[in-house]
Amino acid sequence: MSKDNIAQQYNNMVASIEDAKIYDGRGEYNLYECNKCNNYKVTLYKDKGVTPFIMRCKCGGDMMHTKSSKQAPPSYVKVHNWVRPSLEQTMSLSESMRNHILNGGLILEDELK
Ligand SMILES: [Zn+2]
Repeated sequence: MSKDNIAQQYNNMVASIEDAKIYDGRGEYNLYECNKCNNYKVTLYKDKGVTPFIMRCKCGGDMMHTKSSKQAPPSYVKVHNWVRPSLEQTMSLSESMRNHILNGGLILEDELK
């Protein structure tokens, strides 16, 4: 895909996402729990978009989405934000991640440089 194509797809996606018939989780906290170790991750939707049900854990296990809540976790829990990267950031992602973003997907803020 050329840079112009990516930019066009990105702009189309941004222009239509508010009206898109997808789940709007903004303001919602999600808990992901590993099925192998005790690791967990709390995330918060900052933008409207698609998030994965499973994430890879450092231990090689799968972190599954197990809970959703509007209530913030205790302050000692680190919250990872789901965000829509800018066009420039999207350009620098791997092809599979870029396709995920162009299809309305979100990425964890701490995975962006
Ligand atoms: Zn694990």
